[in-house]
Amino acid sequence: MAINRFSALEQLNNRPVIKEEERKGRDSEIFGTNVFDREKMRQYLSREAYMAVVDAIDNGIVIERRLADQIASGMKAWALEKGATHYTHWFHPLNGATAEKHDAFLHKNPDGSVIESFDGGLLVQQEPDASSFPNGGIRNTFEARGYSAWDPTSPAFINNHTLCIPTIFVSYTGEALDYKTPLLNALGAIDKAAVDICQFFDKNVSKVISTLGWEQEYFLVDEALYNARPDLILCDRTLMGHESSKGQQLDDHYFGAIPDRVASYMKDLELECYKLGIPVKTRHNEVAPNQYECAPIFEEANLAVDHNQLLMSTMKRVSHKHKFVVLMHEKPYKGINGSGKHNNWSLMTNTGVNLLSPGKNPKSNTQFLIFLVCSVKAVCDHADLFRASIVSAGNEHRLGADEAPPVVMSVFLGDYLTSVLDELVEKVSEKKMSPDEKTELKLNIGKIPEIMMDNTDRNRTSPFAFTGNRFEFRAVGSSANCATAMTILNTTVTKILVDFKNQTDQLIEDGVKKDEAIFQVLKKFIIESNSIRFDGNGYGNEWMVESEKRGLSNVRGCVESLKAYISKDTIKLFEDINVLSERELFARYEIQNEIYLKKLQIEARVLGDLAINHIIPTAINYQNILISNVKGLKDVVDVETFKELSQVQLESITKISRHITAIRRNVSEMVDHRKTANRINDIIEKAHLYSEDIKPYIEKIRIDIDKLEMIVDDEMWPLPKYRELLFVK
Ligand code: ADP
Ligand code: MG
Repeated sequence: MAINRFSALEQLNNRPVIKEEERKGRDSEIFGTNVFDREKMRQYLSREAYMAVVDAIDNGIVIERRLADQIASGMKAWALEKGATHYTHWFHPLNGATAEKHDAFLHKNPDGSVIESFDGGLLVQQEPDASSFPNGGIRNTFEARGYSAWDPTSPAFINNHTLCIPTIFVSYTGEALDYKTPLLNALGAIDKAAVDICQFFDKNVSKVISTLGWEQEYFLVDEALYNARPDLILCDRTLMGHESSKGQQLDDHYFGAIPDRVASYMKDLELECYKLGIPVKTRHNEVAPNQYECAPIFEEANLAVDHNQLLMSTMKRVSHKHKFVVLMHEKPYKGINGSGKHNNWSLMTNTGVNLLSPGKNPKSNTQFLIFLVCSVKAVCDHADLFRASIVSAGNEHRLGADEAPPVVMSVFLGDYLTSVLDELVEKVSEKKMSPDEKTELKLNIGKIPEIMMDNTDRNRTSPFAFTGNRFEFRAVGSSANCATAMTILNTTVTKILVDFKNQTDQLIEDGVKKDEAIFQVLKKFIIESNSIRFDGNGYGNEWMVESEKRGLSNVRGCVESLKAYISKDTIKLFEDINVLSERELFARYEIQNEIYLKKLQIEARVLGDLAINHIIPTAINYQNILISNVKGLKDVVDVETFKELSQVQLESITKISRHITAIRRNVSEMVDHRKTANRINDIIEKAHLYSEDIKPYIEKIRIDIDKLEMIVDDEMWPLPKYRELLFVK
């Protein structure tokens, strides 16, 4: 029998309390036990092999095959001791999940004896069949092979008795088929560009890493209730459901006490994260009922991206034990807040300096201002690309809906920094500055408070906000792979840093003193990126008017936004910085459109099925009860009284019929549109049709269903209601 709302509620009521696992040791002792980190490498590798890995991590030096064999053998010894039986290359294909194909260590020798085997070749490269992963037309039909290649900058780890080796994933012809490859390219590019700027100030800087601290929002829903909602199972969001009388209007969930059952889940999740070396630190209730957040201590961006992907899969695994399901969707429920994933980003030198943190003197603060201004200019010059990096079918429900940043990109700096930049523009003149003018300017720059936290009012409505010692990219969706946003951010900032360096060098070559040259280019960049700076309310209508006046781009909808990936500017930018080729960009563009349209296609199908096979039959059954009630009434009362009393029932009967008719009509129209769209081969055109012609029906059909939910007997309604999904503990 299918699980329905009533059997689900019964399961829930009879469920024993599930306690968290008992901790065996302190968190710091548990941390990283399942990770082949530097400490374990020192223990399990020869000095030569260890140094080779360190050199690969720190300096990008390729590891020789002979040493790869040694590393593989050390890794195997460690993994077997930890009880691992299999190994896998672990990568991020463009379908948004992580992929792993497990192979056993078990190996049969020619003489029939069996051993555990794993060598450098298997560590460095695997050949997963690429044909079932999205490739956007890159894969030739006759060449299905793809290659995964070891990324030593992210350590191997053990999950589920399997040694997981983080890898990139490329096609036979060398094109990137994953999120990690362009990210690593962008991180390498910004390292070089940032070091070049730092060299103006400190010759000891030889490496700059990008840092990322994500904040993961999510919903929890009871597993039994989830299983009674085909829309949640297949679409990760509810396609129908009348709003609960109580939602988030009392603001009583945010930062409130975490319910016991949820706290047990979180503790187990944290334990698993610690074993995997994911430094989760913060947990709290979010704004909507049953919505939560988890955030780590920030890390190097590539590692942080891997850890976020690993967190998401670990959340799903651990939630199962606690009879919860984690909803990563950006908008699982209508009428209450959806989920995002803020990406906190900065740059850090090998000398330990956070380049987006104001320093102690004019010199370090000038350096800080360069990185600040170049980041602002990156958003200004490439706003469309920033938007393209965060759009998806899920995020489309959230962006600009007064709960998440609008689709117009802007940067928040706060009053203090705004005045610093304005003053700089005013004081720096094109003519040679007098020593006094220069001293005054430097003095003021030197006064920027070291800790800016208190000076940046926390504007929550800005898509890209400076928060004291980092930027926070707030528009990223909760289910997204952070790599996309990080790739765009680091690529565009690289471009501006390179421009900054070139223009400054040119002035110096023309005889302008170094510090004056820097100020002049800073001034120019500040002026050029003025229009993107906005500290006001990003949710307000005034901003929409103002941003239009400023000429800022405002593109609604995923399909339109994605076009930024294939603009001339983007192709030039990505080829110049060597992050993705034109062919790879086109492939990604197509893949994103395909994923978008397929999600809508699934939603449309599920909704059609639920409407016709679940909701309408229920409504008819209830209507029949009303009809027999009316008939019975006729038998027991006189004609006059009957006329008076049957009024209400007859009204309900008519209402039900009207809703049923509307649902049937809309579903049938939606199916017709789908048939038309499905006949089209061009992915982009098809995605466009799904967005324009089919998506509106998904909203329209639920309106009548949600009205029926308010009419039909509660005892008959088959799907768990919002008030149960959101509040039943
Ligand atoms: P809030 O919700 O107020 O934005 P949180 O404490 O939830 O703050 O999250 C802040 C995130 O920013 C954390 O993940 C933290 O590690 C990260 N963060 C702090 N400093 C940096 C930095 N220099 N680079 C990148 N991320 C950072
Ligand atoms: Mg935040």
